[in-house]
Amino acid sequence: MPSTSPGDAPRSPGREPAVEVVGLVKRYGSKTAVDGLDLTVARGTVTAVLGPNGAGKTTTVETCEGYRRPDAGQVRVLGLDPVADAAALRPRIGVLLQSGGVYPGARAEEMLRHTATLHSHPLDVVTLMERLGLGSCGRTPYRRLSGGQQQRLALAMAVVGRPELVFLDEPTAGLDPQARRATWDLVRELRADGVSVVLTTHFMDEAEQLADDVAIIDGGKVVAQGSPEELCKGGAENSLRFTGRPGLDVASLLKALPADSAAAELTAGIYRVQGRIDPQLLATVTSWCAQNGVMPDAIAVERHTLEDVFLELTGKELRA
Ligand code: ATP
Repeated sequence: MPSTSPGDAPRSPGREPAVEVVGLVKRYGSKTAVDGLDLTVARGTVTAVLGPNGAGKTTTVETCEGYRRPDAGQVRVLGLDPVADAAALRPRIGVLLQSGGVYPGARAEEMLRHTATLHSHPLDVVTLMERLGLGSCGRTPYRRLSGGQQQRLALAMAVVGRPELVFLDEPTAGLDPQARRATWDLVRELRADGVSVVLTTHFMDEAEQLADDVAIIDGGKVVAQGSPEELCKGGAENSLRFTGRPGLDVASLLKALPADSAAAELTAGIYRVQGRIDPQLLATVTSWCAQNGVMPDAIAVERHTLEDVFLELTGKELRA
């Protein structure tokens, strides 16, 4: 595949963030879908927007794309207003909608070629189709493509114009593992070429794999934002597990640990220490083991995953 780089396309890079949302409010009748949301997407980064169903992700992204008008707050995309400056922005941004409006009878390659003609320096259509495993579907009418093929074609349409910024709303929903990997590789290539990417996803591993920055949305607001590492460090406490003979004196271990730690025997012979897990704490635990003649068969630090942090912040109940 040829580079997805901006190549020789005319650019006006600017210094402003790729996306800047301040105090965004969007209502549908009496329902407040987005409720004072702030979000900044730095240029050249991949930002993953996570949130439970109905959290306001799609509404936020569609507002940035200029498809919805804010009821309050400001939205700037590449320094421009997505509604007032829609004509200037259209050739500079790529959009993958959750459900795109298409002519079901149009053929796959024809659709991609048509999108390519709307841009002055598009990628090579045939190569892009091959790249996304659509090489044999060029003459297939859209309605006859499988769901995953339709999704990949929509992705191809979002990037064929070599955009500066791409919005991908659930780009890998319904894709098989191979197509998911191909999509991830494409996102990585876009990033390597300096393209800014905003993606929504329900897959935590996708966010961990791809995102420089993660924004977790709940109830129409950003409840946490940071790199996956920052979020995993900052959220729930981590823990350390070790094995030993059953019935060790946990109270004496607790006395040796810093004041804000916890220690428990979870099941016979399996112990968990919670708190600030740092090299000092590890040394304290191992020296306590030595003093008590305990040789752990296993000792492991358990870090919280993005999914743990997500559930901790947004709760475990199902959303409407
Ligand atoms: P999902 O993960 O399910 O895609 P989301 O985070 O993208 O959810 P939105 O689609 O932005 O959430 O929806 C936010 C809220 O606004 C939901 O309660 C939804 O039912 C409501 N909503 C969205 N679009 C409309 C609309 N056109 N009319 C009325 N309510 C809407």
